[in-house]
Amino acid sequence: MSSAQTYPEIRRHELIARLAQGAAAGICVVTPNQRLSGALGAAFAAAQAARGLAAWEAPDILPFSAFLERLYQDGLYSDLATQLPLLLTAIQEQAIWEAVVAGSESGSTLLSVASAATLAREAWALSHAWRLFPGLRDFFGNDDTRVFADWAWRYEGITARHRQSERARLPEVIGPHLQSSALRKPTILVAYGFDILTPQQQFFLDALGRAGVKLCCGVPDAHAASVRRIACAAAKDEYRAAANWARARLEEASRANRLPCRIGIVVPDLASAREGIRRAFTQVMAPARGFPGTAPAILPFNISLGTPLAAYPLARAASLIFDLAAGEFEFTAASRLLRSPFIAGGDSESAARAGLDAALRRNCAPRTTLERLRRAIARNTAPENPRRARPCPRLAQGLSALAVAAKEQLSGSRRPGAWARAMLGLLETLGFPGERALDSIEYQTLQKLHETIADFAALDRVAGRMRFAQARARLAQAMGDALFQPEAAAVPVQILGVLESAGMEFDHLWVMGLAEEAWPMPPGPNPFVPVALQKRAGVPEASAAASLDLDRRITRGWLAAAGEVVLSHPLREDDRELPVSPLIREIDLTALEELGLPAYETAQAAIHAAAALERVADGMAPALPSGGANVGGATSAGGTAVFRDQAACPFRAFAIHRLGARGLDPVSSLGASDRGTLVHALLAEIWKELKSSATLAALSERDLQALIGAAADTAINSLRWRRPDALAGRLGQLERERLARLALEWLEVERQRPPFEIAAIETKQAISFGGLTVNARLDRMDRLLDAQQGGWAVLDYKTGRADPGAWLGERPDEPQLPLYAVGAARSAGAPAGVVALAFAQVRAGKMEFRGIGAAQNLIPGVATIDAQRARAARLYTSWEELLQGFRYELEELGREFVSGEARVAPKNGAATCRYCELHALCRISEREGFAAAADDGVEAATAADEA
Ligand code: SF4
Repeated sequence: MSSAQTYPEIRRHELIARLAQGAAAGICVVTPNQRLSGALGAAFAAAQAARGLAAWEAPDILPFSAFLERLYQDGLYSDLATQLPLLLTAIQEQAIWEAVVAGSESGSTLLSVASAATLAREAWALSHAWRLFPGLRDFFGNDDTRVFADWAWRYEGITARHRQSERARLPEVIGPHLQSSALRKPTILVAYGFDILTPQQQFFLDALGRAGVKLCCGVPDAHAASVRRIACAAAKDEYRAAANWARARLEEASRANRLPCRIGIVVPDLASAREGIRRAFTQVMAPARGFPGTAPAILPFNISLGTPLAAYPLARAASLIFDLAAGEFEFTAASRLLRSPFIAGGDSESAARAGLDAALRRNCAPRTTLERLRRAIARNTAPENPRRARPCPRLAQGLSALAVAAKEQLSGSRRPGAWARAMLGLLETLGFPGERALDSIEYQTLQKLHETIADFAALDRVAGRMRFAQARARLAQAMGDALFQPEAAAVPVQILGVLESAGMEFDHLWVMGLAEEAWPMPPGPNPFVPVALQKRAGVPEASAAASLDLDRRITRGWLAAAGEVVLSHPLREDDRELPVSPLIREIDLTALEELGLPAYETAQAAIHAAAALERVADGMAPALPSGGANVGGATSAGGTAVFRDQAACPFRAFAIHRLGARGLDPVSSLGASDRGTLVHALLAEIWKELKSSATLAALSERDLQALIGAAADTAINSLRWRRPDALAGRLGQLERERLARLALEWLEVERQRPPFEIAAIETKQAISFGGLTVNARLDRMDRLLDAQQGGWAVLDYKTGRADPGAWLGERPDEPQLPLYAVGAARSAGAPAGVVALAFAQVRAGKMEFRGIGAAQNLIPGVATIDAQRARAARLYTSWEELLQGFRYELEELGREFVSGEARVAPKNGAATCRYCELHALCRISEREGFAAAADDGVEAATAADEA
């Protein structure tokens, strides 16, 4: 490891003065990264403007890697062209490495060839930068290093045969030609801001020196800094303190007319801290950002380290289009694309598509295909579908065109260039990138996407024919590897990683995260190169000593990089104490308060503080108009659900049954409610045929099997039109067998009953209580034929746990059966004779009737009210009193709903809210104490479930 400081030194202010002489001075400045080139260029421009100039020659400042490429390009357009290899793009290089890895003996044992190839590329670049190759083949290593040596040998052979090179070897490619006049060399080359020069860089600079270029080492101006060390309780407190400090310094500079003001924030582990830092800085520096009615503000800070192209919404939409065209995909992919603005009609049909997405969730399988998706969309928007969603003609048209394109264009094997053209065609088919004008970031993302697809097309030079799935995977990887940061206006606050901070100067600098375990950076040698070899070469990542040496130098650089320097470190992470880094331990600790920072409020706190409270009583909605209280036809979960919801929470009933609010259904193959529907349909079919216990008793085993089989087929067919995917092929057969087993087991329970005959099955009735009329569907009513007792029994099938205690007391949890008992039973012809109510619990291994009757033994498992263990059972002393109680509660609930009673008042607090999907609408979680109660409720409910 060496430093550029072996060359004559030139300070920044002197360098800027020399650059002002223009091209005639022949100075070229190379920097370790693009950011430092930009910062130096900006400092030069500011200096020229300060001299009163309106125009000046652009200085020659560029990253070292760009300088190498410029020399290579010079060579390509000269007589040297025939001697230079083809320079591979990153995606071409990756493709060759993948071919090498996949074709090797060890390749077949790898989980991911692409990841191994990426690691190999990194090891290859490291080995060249540190000139490790001579020793690599002879050095004794482990299995990994031997495998890499083999891959590297093959890679070298392939690229040599085809006269190719990648950027890692450019110094060796250009070095031998530096004497040629075809390569434009500067008179003076200034290596600016290099904390470290790799041996390969040193070799190249020395070769330039031999070619007559004068070499200098550029160093920042030293600032007499005030340095302070701050300890924060945790990392998030550091983020917040740094954000407050940055805003305070900006405001001070503005007041003192000292703009522009350069503020640097350096974070050693920026990749993992990025999101927390972004949030803290946004909250402090642009607190109202994203609020309704506010224009999108340009943030005054910029976080370096690009994000993978694949993570940008526009690029993600393109990948989803390829997914849909390719074959089977997750429903979530289709759902995302449906709601994307980056396809045709994405804006004009956005509301209808959101509704369609919600509808599709109810009946799409977790995995689907384009064809099945199109059929599901057609089903869910068909005029004859009673629960149809609004149609989305542009979406339907786009998907249909995509299906045709996929069928015609995506079969067989092709060269990458041909696949690139086909992919662009697919994007166009679906109207990508949408109908609205793109903003600046989206536009730059689109450009980058096109660049990446063009790079992929250039794979023609190094890769053969492939299938569409392989092409798609390779492009997806290229989009994942391509770190991308859209260009933005110059902003005063730069948030950087350690390497990018090299050579940078600021007015104020804050370096955070300097705990012992993070600084100096812990060693992390490349696993493919023998560690001893890396140590011997002085690779900083390979040894604690080399890392300490480099990080000590970087720390010294920070201390002189600004007029004010703050170094901070967190004291704890979770329960762990974090000692301070030994590199800053000697600096006296300063209390955060001594920085004199104002306590900036978050937007939420400011809103709360400024609030002029106006009390609005919102517990009552407008009453339903008289005569207009029939909501049963409009309810989605069955007409009687309005009583259950009103009992559970008046707001829930109001939101669902009057506002039409509904949570999104989870996407599942065959959900619990589908299975419940199947069991209801199965038993309805069976009893429509049997009609009585006597027929059941008389039926032969064979006829019973036939009856059950036919009923299972009918039940499945009735659901199949809605859930064809979930009940297709073998799945349908398995479901049929499950239903048959359940029916057999259940009919054994029915055989134990005293004689009965069926009085009604699945009968629809309008039922009114308290002025509210709902359309109810009665599962079943039996006439009991016992000569002494007689009467009617109202039954309700349940495939989950069923407890008759849920009918009792105030605001009953399950008021459906009481509703049938005292409402529908009258209309169904049982004027005074309902003598039993029962849940028919049809659960595998737990088949039984559970209910309450006017007398004992009417149905096995149905007991009189005095035998009920629920506390609310004590409210009733007889069957008649029970029916009267039902009537009273139902009248109350109906009246409440009709009157507009809509209080947010869950009957059992957090336990009632646990499975309710309306939290965002009722904002119950904003109520004081709700969160803790919810936790307790969940714990209690979990304990109960486990019990
Ligand atoms: S979450 Fe709770 S309070 Fe809100 S509507 Fe549902 S049951 Fe009522």
